Amino acid sequence: GAQGSGFERRAVIDLSAIRNNVKQISDVVAPAAVMAVVKADAYGHGAIPVAKAAVEGGASWLGCAHVTEALALREAGIQTPMLAWLHTEDTPFEAAIDASLDLGVSGWELERVAAAARAVQTPARIHLKIDTGLGRNGSTMDDFPDLLNRASAFQEEGLLRVVGLFSHLAVADEPERPETDAQLDLFSKAIELVEAAGFHLEVRHIANTPAILSRPDAHHDMVRLGLGLYGQSPFENETPESFGLRPAMKLVTRVANVKKVHAGQGVSYGLNYKTEGETYLGLIPMGYADGLPRIATGAPVTVNGRSYPVRGRIAMDQCVIDLGPEISPEDYLGAEAIIFGEGGQSVNTWAHAANTINYEVVTRISPRVPRHYV
Ligand code: PLP
Repeated sequence: GAQGSGFERRAVIDLSAIRNNVKQISDVVAPAAVMAVVKADAYGHGAIPVAKAAVEGGASWLGCAHVTEALALREAGIQTPMLAWLHTEDTPFEAAIDASLDLGVSGWELERVAAAARAVQTPARIHLKIDTGLGRNGSTMDDFPDLLNRASAFQEEGLLRVVGLFSHLAVADEPERPETDAQLDLFSKAIELVEAAGFHLEVRHIANTPAILSRPDAHHDMVRLGLGLYGQSPFENETPESFGLRPAMKLVTRVANVKKVHAGQGVSYGLNYKTEGETYLGLIPMGYADGLPRIATGAPVTVNGRSYPVRGRIAMDQCVIDLGPEISPEDYLGAEAIIFGEGGQSVNTWAHAANTINYEVVTRISPRVPRHYV
């Protein structure tokens, strides 16, 4: 009919894959708990539906970078314990405490959180963050005794409770590297310091997806599951399926035009690709404004069960695939065109073509692409 047969462009998100992936990981890490990391709009998959599915699948915690991300989940009615760990001077700490969010604290935030707790007359629940080697956020080991002293004073005042200790790994996706051992050793030392200072920790957590899958000794009380929640593998040479994980996102559109051109036809801006002979060009109505990496010339698009490489530059709204001279154009115009996901190529093939990682490819699929939940 006039509406075609259902969609122009969409990111299909399989919530049963999300539930499956949490369940798989829960089985691997039990008795440790699973925090589903749903920052960055659940790595582009949609934070609210993914958070709900993750909890259904057995996640007992949710993790966000920003307090504002976590507040949006609370506003959607999600009551699950939640941690947010990346703050600025302007972070709404009072609203966070009112919404029962746990707060990651690396240093300066401690005084701000205590002041907010005083203002709303509710003790804050905090997870101290220790930098065991990543060199990003987190207290250094040198600064840590002072942070513990300050936290101790606020806890005695009833303004906060230290309930967690956490850290983040730098190279867990390269299991042969020695730095992960060093990070885990420092983490154990930090746990001893916290407990010696008289705090009773509920949760100690350091493992991200690569450590979940390769370092059982890193699981502690809880793991923070990001990439694996979405069914992607953190390792170059291992598929998600080898861990029982199912990719949750399928990016799909329809071939928007098919036309026959002569040999030597330049394709897209710069005319860097020229057709070798007479051929059919297929137009794909997705480009870098939709989040396809502009650099990914040559990445595969699957139509009618065959993969065709993108030829020429990816433009803002569209790109072009060369269908060859043999096809029947009527079989292609309007046909489903799978960028990646079930029935097509993996996110990793797009990541390779774009000289980046699967994390970035899914996370950058833009809000312009409607999410469709199945
Ligand atoms: N923990 C923290 C602090 C993070 O920033 C992230 C994401 O980068 C994760 C856990 C999840 O990592 P992954 O997606 O590798 O599971």
